[in-house]
Amino acid sequence: MLKAYPEGPPSSEGWGPNLGAALRTYASGPGIPEASKEFYAHMADNGHHKVIIIGSGPAGLTAALYSARANLSPLVIEGFDAGGQLMLTSDVENYPGFPDGVIGPDLMALFRKQAERFGATFVTDDASGVDFSERPFKVQVRKDAFTAEAVIVATGAKAKMLGLESEHRLLGRGVSTCATCDGAFFKNQELLVVGGGDSALEEALFLQRFASKLAVIHRRDQLRASKIMQDRAMASDKISFVWNSTVDEVLGNQKVEGARLRNLQTGELTDISAGGMFVAIGHTPNTSLFRGHLELDPAGYIVAGKNLSVDWNPASPYETRTSVEGVFAAGDVVDHTYRQAITASGTGCMASIDAERWLESKGH
Ligand code: NAP
Repeated sequence: MLKAYPEGPPSSEGWGPNLGAALRTYASGPGIPEASKEFYAHMADNGHHKVIIIGSGPAGLTAALYSARANLSPLVIEGFDAGGQLMLTSDVENYPGFPDGVIGPDLMALFRKQAERFGATFVTDDASGVDFSERPFKVQVRKDAFTAEAVIVATGAKAKMLGLESEHRLLGRGVSTCATCDGAFFKNQELLVVGGGDSALEEALFLQRFASKLAVIHRRDQLRASKIMQDRAMASDKISFVWNSTVDEVLGNQKVEGARLRNLQTGELTDISAGGMFVAIGHTPNTSLFRGHLELDPAGYIVAGKNLSVDWNPASPYETRTSVEGVFAAGDVVDHTYRQAITASGTGCMASIDAERWLESKGH
C-alpha cells in the first residue's frame, strides 16, 4: 500500500524494491512542478539502482562482479576512458592466475565480461556530478541523473605531469605517459623516460623493444623502484641513467627533438636528443568530483574506514566506508601505499560486501 507524501519525496530507507512505485506516486501527486515530475519519473523508470559504482578499473569492476552476483544489479559509470590504469600498461606479470603474464587491456576486458555476465550494466561516460547530501544518492552523467541506495567510488588515479609548458605543448607529439599506447610509434628512436619508480622502469623496459637506446632521467642518485625492476633495467644494454637531473624544457616545435636537462647538484644544463619523452613520475587521485562531498586527505585521496577524522560510526564493520554513510570507496582513489591491480581488486570486493551488508541492514 502506497501512502501520500505531504512531507516530501519518499526516502529510500525501508522502501527497497518498492521505491520506484513510491516515487511514481509521489511525482503524480498535486503541487509537484513539471520539472520535478520528470526527474522523479526518470528516476523511477530508468535511473534508480541499488548500487552505483563510479569507475571501472580493477576495483570498480571487481565491485561490479561481486555486487552483480549478490543480485544488486549494479550500474557502473565506467567513464569515457574506461578500464583504469591497466589500459595503459603492457605486460602484467604480477596478477595471480596468469603464469605467463597478461596484457593490461586484455585483463580489464576479462574483468568487464565477468561482471556483465552476472548482470552489471554500464554507462560509458564520465560522472559529471554527485549529490550525497541525502538518500537516494544522485549521480549525474551530463543530463542524465541516476540514483542509488549505495555508491561505490572507484575512480582511481591518473598520471602526474612535470608541469612544463613545452611538455604540455608537445603532449601527443612525442611526449607521452603511456608506453603501451605510444611505444610502437618510436621504432629505432632515442627515447627518454622521466622518473625513478616502478612505473618509470616498467616504461623503460617496455620501450627498449622499440627504442635504439633510452635514458632514464631521475632527480636523485637512487631509484625508488623495486629491486627486481632495478636489476632488469640495469641489465639492459639499451637503458642508461642520468642521475640527479630534471627536465628543464622539452625541445622541439612540432615534435619532440630532445630535452634540456638540469643537473640538480651542479646547476649545469645539458641538451640531450630524443624522439620521444615518457613521463612516469607517479599519480594523482581522481577525486575532483568528490571535493566537498567526501572527506579527502591533503593529497586528495578519499579517506576511508578507521582513518576518517569525522566518522559517522567508528564501531561500524564497514572498512571501506567513507565520511558519508552508504558511500564506499575502493582502489587507488583511497590507496597511497600499495596501488596494485590485485590490491585494488581486493578492496573493490570489500566495498561490494560492505555495501551489500549495509543495504541489508537498511532493509533493502
Ligand atoms: P612512485 O613510486 O611514486 O615514483 C615516482 C617517481 O617519480 C619517483 O622516483 C619520484 O622521485 C619521481 N618524481 C615524482 N615527481 C617528480 C617530478 N616532479 N619531477 C621528477 N621526478 C619526479 O610512482 P610509480 O612509479 O608510478 O609507482 C606507484 C606505485 O605503483 C608504487 O607502489 C609501485 O611499486 C607500483 N607499481 C608497480 C609496478 C610493478 O610492480 N610492475 C609497476 C608500476 C607501479 P623520488 O624517488 O625522488 O621521489
